Amino acid sequence: MRSLGSDEAKRARLVNDLKEEGIIRSRKVKDAMLAVNRELFMDIPLKTCAYLDRPLPIGSGQTISAPHMVAIMAEELLCKEGNRVLEIGSGSGYHAAVVSHLVGPEGHVYSIERVHELAMCAERNIDEAGIGNITIIEGDGSLGYPEKAPYDRIYYTCAAPEIPDRVMDQLADGGILLGVVGPSGGVQRLIRYTKEGERVKEERLTRCVFVPLIGELGY
Ligand code: SAM
Repeated sequence: MRSLGSDEAKRARLVNDLKEEGIIRSRKVKDAMLAVNRELFMDIPLKTCAYLDRPLPIGSGQTISAPHMVAIMAEELLCKEGNRVLEIGSGSGYHAAVVSHLVGPEGHVYSIERVHELAMCAERNIDEAGIGNITIIEGDGSLGYPEKAPYDRIYYTCAAPEIPDRVMDQLADGGILLGVVGPSGGVQRLIRYTKEGERVKEERLTRCVFVPLIGELGY
């Protein structure tokens, strides 16, 4: 018999709360959030806090995103099995791990991180979690990652001043880009862009607060 304090039980409780709050809406996102052990993506002293619904430090002045934000973005990204995805800002690798479940073994997540230590850490975490469909790249994601374009889905985990054409051009026709757009250090907006031929449809979603995108086309 498992104790009620086990990580598995805490994860199930958190996912259930997110479902009751209407944040998790689909079976796919629920299963992905249940499948990923958040504690694997955190440093030892913070592992006991892994199922608190809040961002937590991961070193280099950065944070692992709060579970509710990862769940909101997972729902709004509308991933399909087999999608090729670009994540801008790997952090600990947790968010990429959740998305990797949504795209399944035929899909792939390319995740770019500018901080060397975090890129190494995300890669290690993903290996330890036994996930095979994520590639971590060290580099400036403000330029996207044209080497593996086009992507069916692109999402930012840090706040950009705007979404540059150079990144939008890396999105496949019919693809979706979830951007976090707004001031560094202020309240930003999650925006979903859908590419429809020459046109890009824009939907303004929830307000949010993320660390800034630092780089050539960032802050
Ligand atoms: N979602 C991640 C997780 O689950 O751990 C947390 C992402 S954290 C909120 C944002 C990340 O974006 C940080 O690791 C930061 O170093 C990274 N970042 C900021 N500017 C970047 C850039 N130009 N290219 C790549 N990563 C960048």
